[in-house]
Amino acid sequence: MTLDRRREVLNQLKTVVVKVGTNVLSTDDDRLDADRIASLAEQVHHICQAGCKLVLVSSGAIGAGMGLLGLKERPKDLSHLQAAAATGQAHLIHIYDKALRPYGYHAAQLLLTANDFKSRGRYLNVRNTLRTLGEYAVIPIINENDTVSTAEIKLGDNDRLAAMVAGLIQADLLIILSVVDGLLTGDPSNPASQRIPLVERFDDELLNLVGASKSSRGTGGMGTKLEAVRTATAVGTNVIIADGKRPKVLDEILSGADIGTLFLGDGDGVSAWKRWIGYTMPPKGRLVLDAGARRAVEQQGKSLLAIGVVGVEGDFDKGEVVSLVDQQGAEFARGLTNYDTAGAKAIAGKRTDEITRELGSIPYDEVIHRDNLVVISLVK
Ligand code: GLU
Repeated sequence: MTLDRRREVLNQLKTVVVKVGTNVLSTDDDRLDADRIASLAEQVHHICQAGCKLVLVSSGAIGAGMGLLGLKERPKDLSHLQAAAATGQAHLIHIYDKALRPYGYHAAQLLLTANDFKSRGRYLNVRNTLRTLGEYAVIPIINENDTVSTAEIKLGDNDRLAAMVAGLIQADLLIILSVVDGLLTGDPSNPASQRIPLVERFDDELLNLVGASKSSRGTGGMGTKLEAVRTATAVGTNVIIADGKRPKVLDEILSGADIGTLFLGDGDGVSAWKRWIGYTMPPKGRLVLDAGARRAVEQQGKSLLAIGVVGVEGDFDKGEVVSLVDQQGAEFARGLTNYDTAGAKAIAGKRTDEITRELGSIPYDEVIHRDNLVVISLVK
């Protein structure tokens, strides 16, 4: 069963994102592991030879920079982190480029921040660049632009970045290489914990399986990986989390071997527009909905009308993304609002005819039109 599902996923591969974590790339003495990168380059070549487009999301800049600058611990302040990232990033790409050359590829570097995903124009621009790079024998290697990322524009971890890139290019498969065997039934330090080979549908209960374990050089733990899995599977991308320290891990995955955990993407798919609204832009505020409005939006695919809004929170403009939450505060949808904070407050809880009577006219019948609305927590 597990193997059948794997084969199905692998048979249809056209576009793959491979995310490589810092700990996969580092030696014990904090240097970049050039042998590992050389082996990954060879396996990347195998994937390309099989006719797939491939994008790498690679961490390791800060870790490498720490080694080069002789820093024993991950710096706590932003400027030293950025200095380490700037130094390490050049080194990281140089090693990838050297490793890819024997197979006829160049490394192309893309450094992104959250702003590149928030603005529709920049988002499309990144997508076009990646598409164009696909015309050449080039492997795009993406990392967060740590040297300019301040708290407000920081994506935070590369698991999230990789999921967003997978959404951006509509990848069929996202492979997250870490130093774990996959998702386990319990704590990794407990020998009784077993690998879960297949997750057919992502369920928030899975988040309870993991503690927020963090490594010394990277930033993510299993928690951030599962958040990334949720984002990617929701838009139809399959995800495999596997141990990047296995010598031929990508070859094994591509041959259909039963390693790591395969999370199947949600087959329903989501349009590129909705993907951008629901999974790319951080919401600017929240609309609290009563139970009837929640049902209409979540289960009946209806637009959101003012009558169902019982609370307006945050400071947002017309056209920005807001979260839709229930009265317990649980988020279940996101959408582009037709009203700014003041406008939404003025009409919240009112019927359309009441609004027209009071205001003389109503700029939009819907607070959020259903075309601009995406349900993000459908438990099916
Ligand atoms: N951008 C960071 C780096 O290159 C890594 C972030 C992460 O590992 O999530 O060191």
